[in-house]
Amino acid sequence: MLLLVINCGSSSIKFALLQMEHETVRLSGIVEAIGEAQGTIILRQHENKYKEDKVETTIADHTVALEYVLAFLSQHANNLHMLAGIGHRVVHGGDYFHSATLINDQVIDAIEKTIPLAPLHNPANLVGIKTMAKLRPNLPQVAVFDTAFFQTLPAYAYRYAVPQACYEDHHVRRYGFHGTSHQHVAQATADYLDRTLDTLNLITLHLGNGSSAAAIKNGICIDTSMGMTPLEGLVMGSRCGDIDPALPFYLVRNSNMDIHQVETMLNESSGLKGLCGVKDMREILRLAEDGDQQAKLAIDLYCYRICKYIGAYHVALGGTDALVFTGGIGENSQQIRQTICAQLKVLGIEIDAQKNDSKMNNAVEISTTNSAVNVLVIPTNEELEIARQSFAVIHDQHRLLSTGK
Ligand code: ADP
Repeated sequence: MLLLVINCGSSSIKFALLQMEHETVRLSGIVEAIGEAQGTIILRQHENKYKEDKVETTIADHTVALEYVLAFLSQHANNLHMLAGIGHRVVHGGDYFHSATLINDQVIDAIEKTIPLAPLHNPANLVGIKTMAKLRPNLPQVAVFDTAFFQTLPAYAYRYAVPQACYEDHHVRRYGFHGTSHQHVAQATADYLDRTLDTLNLITLHLGNGSSAAAIKNGICIDTSMGMTPLEGLVMGSRCGDIDPALPFYLVRNSNMDIHQVETMLNESSGLKGLCGVKDMREILRLAEDGDQQAKLAIDLYCYRICKYIGAYHVALGGTDALVFTGGIGENSQQIRQTICAQLKVLGIEIDAQKNDSKMNNAVEISTTNSAVNVLVIPTNEELEIARQSFAVIHDQHRLLSTGK
């Protein structure tokens, strides 16, 4: 069986066609600069000999882009009739969605109602869903939400201490993001440790351009660092993470920025970029190596904030079985992992320098045998997680239809 995963952004579409029996990607790609004068299409064939082609052309809109994608799939996947359905990444599911959901008109309505909470992402995700429904009306489509994994948070973790009316009338609460990644590495950790997820307390760190932490108690997520928006929490590439909520008011009163400029600043020119001018961690590490003090500060602050969350989550969990690193930085930077873990000795955490330095493509444990907590590096795979969850929903639907229940 095949499953197509689509991640539709406002001007780009990422896709992957997976063979579900072996959970391998057969074809994938990205369409960028949709609606601009010159668009780009990158098409990858993963089977036999890996091949990547790049086409530059005008891509008028998302329909044209998805037609390109479907033509590419038909050309290179001889068994496209085995396509079981399509899994869509949807950023915000609000309070409505607790798990991956088969798409129908009510689901589309609910995703539309959530647009005010994710005005940049949900409309684009909906364009992908509606376009595919037109192009392939007979294929089941499933929405997999970035927020769903966090719907288990207790009220004391998801509520803000603001008047009840803000919550009831305006849906102001913490939702969390990167849920598919945290869920994927949590399950992969259980598999690696040969335990069932419901017996484990985990702290998962997704450290990429966007960064977030999650506390998972006996397999259930009880807290996460991103909030009503992805701006809250850890320091990120260009997002500020936690700040004094009065900071925007102060700036509006005392600088020449209006509220929109402050919002843009906190999202696009803060975080690591705000601290040292660069958001790419590889470059920041190089600059710090060359003695750049601002880059050093950016690294120290980034790691310190992560450690503060780990300390808090360790208490919230009542003890941690495993600390898990994932995301571009978490998977690839031995130095960031080392800097973080060096501050966690008080929790009995100890990593093996040699294991931490080794090249890794798969899940690896980097803690010593004496460490009180297993420390793991686990590559995330959001496409696979979306495909797995979508496939399970479609499979259940078929079962229900065939048993008439
Ligand atoms: P996104 O959130 O956009 O998916 P990624 O998870 O790909 O981002 O992470 C991007 C970040 O990972 C960048 O800051 C990049 O510098 C960092 N990164 C990738 N490889 C390394 C590496 N070898 N060492 C340090 N940082 C790395």
